[in-house]
Amino acid sequence: MKKKITLSVLVLSILSLVVFFTLQKKVPVINPPIDEEDKEYDLNPEVPFVIVIDAGHGPFESLDKEPNAPGSTDMKYKSVVGATGNITRVLERDINLTIALQLQTLLTEAGYTVVMTRIDNSVNLSNIQRATIANEHHADLMIRIHNDSSSNHENHGASVLVPANVGYAGPIVAISAKYGKIILDTLISEVGMASRGVKTRSDQTGFNWSKVPVMTVEMGFLSNPEEEQNLVNTSYQTKLANALFKGIDSCFDGYKWYPLIY
Ligand SMILES: [Zn+2]
Repeated sequence: MKKKITLSVLVLSILSLVVFFTLQKKVPVINPPIDEEDKEYDLNPEVPFVIVIDAGHGPFESLDKEPNAPGSTDMKYKSVVGATGNITRVLERDINLTIALQLQTLLTEAGYTVVMTRIDNSVNLSNIQRATIANEHHADLMIRIHNDSSSNHENHGASVLVPANVGYAGPIVAISAKYGKIILDTLISEVGMASRGVKTRSDQTGFNWSKVPVMTVEMGFLSNPEEEQNLVNTSYQTKLANALFKGIDSCFDGYKWYPLIY
C-alpha cells in the first residue's frame, strides 16, 4: 500500500512538472497583458495598421478658441491660417493637401487603412477635432502634414515635431519620438533636404489631445525662396509623398510596432 502511494505521488509530481513547463511555454512573450477596457483595441498585427493623415490648415482662419490641453485654461485659436509662398503666393494648405492625397494613395495600395481628416478645402477643423478623429479610429499613427515659415528667409530644411508629456499625450511620447526620428531620417535621405531635427513640443493642441502616436512633419520652408520653388514642383511633391510613405512603412516594417495600452 505504502509503495502504491509513493508511486502515485511520484507520478503526480512528474505530471505537475510537465503541466507547469507546458504552461510556461504558452505564456505570450510578445504582447503584454491588456486592460479589460482596452479589449476593443485590436492588437492583431494581421489587421492593417490605421494611419490618419491630417493635411494642415483649411479654408479659413477661426477666431474661436479651444483649450490647449484637456482641463487647461490656456485657450488657443481653433485653426490658424497656414504659410503663403513669397514668390508664387501658393497656400500651404494646398501643398499639404496635395501631398496628403498622394500619401493616402500610396498607403492604401500598400494595404494600410487610411483615414483622412480632410480631402478638400471644404472643412475647417479645429486641432481638437483633428486629434479626436485619430483617437476615435485608434490610429497606429497620426501624421500631420505642414510646411514651415519664418521671417528669416535663410531658414530652411525639414523638421518633425512630437508631443511632450502634456494632457492625454503622456503614454504616446516615446513611441511618437521613435516614429518621428524614423520618418525624418527617411525624408532627409530620400529628398536630400537639410535636417532641423525632431523637436518635442508641449504647446501643440493637436498633440495634447492625442491618445495615439502623433507627429507634425514640416516639409521645408515656404519662406525660403529655394524651398518654395521645390515645394510647388509636382515631381518634388511626389518625392516628398514617396519619402513619407517609405518612412511610415519603416515604422511598421516587420512588426517593430508593439501594442500600446491607452
Ligand atoms: Zn502649417
